[in-house]
Order: sequence, then C-alpha cells, then structure tokens
Amino acid sequence: MSDKVCINLQDISAAGKSWNMDITAAVLMDVNCGDVDALKHVCDDAHWQGAIERAYGVYTLRGKWSVSVLRQCDRCMDKFEWGIKGECARSYAFEEPLDMEEEERADIEVVSPPGVLNLVDVLREEVWLAWKPCVICKDSCKGLCQGCGVNLNHDVCQCKGDYSDSPFAALAKMKFDA
Ligand SMILES: [Zn+2]
Ligand SMILES: [Zn+2]
Repeated sequence: MSDKVCINLQDISAAGKSWNMDITAAVLMDVNCGDVDALKHVCDDAHWQGAIERAYGVYTLRGKWSVSVLRQCDRCMDKFEWGIKGECARSYAFEEPLDMEEEERADIEVVSPPGVLNLVDVLREEVWLAWKPCVICKDSCKGLCQGCGVNLNHDVCQCKGDYSDSPFAALAKMKFDA
C-alpha cells in the first residue's frame, strides 16, 4: 500500500499535517489493504480531506469524507448509488494524558509509538459507523405494487389495486421497522 495513506503520529511536527485525497474504489474494496473490513460495491473514488494537529501530546484528527456505494432500495428493490458523507473527529495520544478531565480523556485513543494511522482504515471505520442497514433510492420512491409486484416508479400496475388474494397482500399487513 502506498505510504501516502499511512501517517506516523510520531513524525507530525507542531505545524501538523493535512491531506486532501481521492481514494479509489479498488483500494477501499481491497481486503488485503488495511485491517478494517473492506467496503463493498463502491461506485467511485472516495473523497477524503482532513488534518491532524498536535497539542500537549494529544493528536487531533478532523476530517470530511464522501463515498458512494451501490445498494438495493428497501422499498422498490432497485439498485442505486447511495451517496454518503460525514465528518470525523478523533484524538490519539501515546500515553493517557492524566492532567485532563476524565470525560475528555475517555475520547482519546492511546496508541503505541510510532503511532501508525492508516487513513484508508480510518475512512472505512467512519463509513461503517455511518452505515444504515435499510436505505431507499429516493424519498419519493413508490415501491412495489402489493398486488402484482411491479416497480411503481417506472411500471404501471396491472392488477388495478385489487390484490386481496395476492401473496403480496399478506406482506402489506406486516409492519416493518424502518
Ligand atoms: Zn426505491
Ligand atoms: Zn399491481
């Protein structure tokens, strides 16, 4: 893996370090790259921008990212590009800063020197944290007809709404938690 995506916290000067990069879909999906579970069905390069600052022995990472992943709509079952973006803030230190309030300390991840951060893994973790198990292609998605099962976004229902005998009618009576 390219050195560009790995940062040694130990090497970060007082001026800090920033990045603004595109990580290819292939890298995000590569199971041999990094330790965090690889993403699947990534459509395009992910954008990943951030900076690390050092102050009083604590390294603070702040960043913004966006990724798009091919997913299945939970309502109409069509595949669509699910665009997802987020912001992250993380803190690292080589030893627990004992002069801090306990609450602040709890957010600091203690790492051992040289403190290698793999930015692909950090990004993957952020994506998994932001992951939603059920997604819909658009708010106005009309879903499937409960009678004939056609996709009402681009097909016309053939059963004219009389679907009391249909197997889909039983489904319609069930409640799904979003
Ligand atoms: Zn849909
Ligand atoms: Zn129908």
